[in-house]
Amino acid sequence: MPTEPSVVATLSLGGNEGDVTGAFRLALKRLASTPGVEVVARSGVWRTPPWGKTDQPDFLNMAAALRTRLSARGLLDLCQDIEREGGRQRHERWGPRTLDIDIITFGDAHVDEPDLVVPHPRAAERAFVLAPLAEIAPDARIGGARVADLLTRLGAGEATPLGPLPPD
Ligand code: AMP
Repeated sequence: MPTEPSVVATLSLGGNEGDVTGAFRLALKRLASTPGVEVVARSGVWRTPPWGKTDQPDFLNMAAALRTRLSARGLLDLCQDIEREGGRQRHERWGPRTLDIDIITFGDAHVDEPDLVVPHPRAAERAFVLAPLAEIAPDARIGGARVADLLTRLGAGEATPLGPLPPD
């Protein structure tokens, strides 16, 4: 059983291949059923244009806030297990995927390791991260700036809110 003090962490979920909202639902269920993890908020679903490699379908994105006693590394391991269960195929960088989960913030922690950087280094430039996150954690900080302020500065661009995650 995890013994760390509890912190609030935020996650960004995205996908553009197969049953993405189904993968989001499964991911949230898996998170919520993990000892030491409580899902405290979930954003609506957003449709966003693909980033990086643009000749692929639009993405769906959402954000979740957790209260957790896992370490940041433990949470990364959990997210990667869930990505695999969600049928994620790693084809190519920034290419299509069913489920991608990134840790955006982990309390006030700063982690800078080869395979884990928190706050997520590219989150502040990405409307697909900021727009859902601003719904549930406008005061969370990335690089000293509030999520809501970062979104105001960047603009939501072509990110479109689709409303709450549909039930099963
Ligand atoms: P991607 O294929 O874009 O999802 O990148 C996944 C890789 O990013 C994994 O190998 C992780 O170890 C690494 N990574 C670094 N920082 C983070 C983070 N904050 N959240 C999730 N993955 C991260």
